[in-house]
Amino acid sequence: MGILEGKKLLITGVLMDSSIAFHVAKLAQEEGAQVVLTSFGRTMKITQTIAKRLPSPPPVVELDVTDQEHLDSLAERLTEHVDSLDGVLHSIGFAPQGAFNFLEGTWEDVATAMHASAYSLKALSVAALPLMTHGGSIVGLTFDAKYAWPVYDWMGVAKAAFESTSRYCARDLGPRGVRVNLVAAGPIGTTAAKSIPGFETLAGSWSERAPLGWDRADPVPSAKACVALLSDWFPATTGEIVHVDGGVHAMGL
Ligand code: NAD
Repeated sequence: MGILEGKKLLITGVLMDSSIAFHVAKLAQEEGAQVVLTSFGRTMKITQTIAKRLPSPPPVVELDVTDQEHLDSLAERLTEHVDSLDGVLHSIGFAPQGAFNFLEGTWEDVATAMHASAYSLKALSVAALPLMTHGGSIVGLTFDAKYAWPVYDWMGVAKAAFESTSRYCARDLGPRGVRVNLVAAGPIGTTAAKSIPGFETLAGSWSERAPLGWDRADPVPSAKACVALLSDWFPATTGEIVHVDGGVHAMGL
């Protein structure tokens, strides 16, 4: 029996089969979960195509996490596919190109990054909550926001806000039996990562610095951690950040 047997999961962020969320969905199905995906706008068709590469092609529900109407109607639209939810994966990040220049980034750039990449965790959690009647697990993906990284700039600030948001969500959803945790993944060559100008500078030395080594072409270690956190195997853990980075976060030089 898989560790997600009988669980019903909402998984955001499947864009390509390189997406971390794609590998979470794949492993989750292999571990016994029923999965519903989200996508939005022009990417709906791409997600629908990529979904066919999963062991059991799941339905794709529209959700732009910055669109309040999408959020308000999400629970009702999901009931076409599931009567409740045991878990939600937030695998969403977006910042305009201007946000990757710290001193030049405008408030408009920063506000967009904050809305899509940080506030969205609270927005998605509240939208899914009506279906989480038996408690459950919400898991998100961060890039360790303790440091000022090369090129990450306002996206790094948005990730710091995202990490803080996860702790407040943990505080307010804990009494309803909902855990909220993050996986801090090392660099992985996904569409989002490749849209960061100078991603190479950020990712370049990772494998040398990681005591366990690091393969940026392999999203599976990060996906496995998400699946573990979505399972019942972390029943007393919330507000936590699990690093899946080959150990880089624990090293000095
Ligand atoms: P990806 O490009 O495959 O996924 C990003 C997803 O965000 C896409 O599916 C996109 O459609 C979705 N998205 C963007 N704006 C949205 C919106 N307004 N509403 C709904 N969905 C929206 O890239 P990924 O690397 O798999 O990213 C997933 C998560 O992992 C992000 O939070 C990212 O910051 C995080 N992360 C990535 C890395 C990395 O190096 N790739 C490292 C650490 C953390």
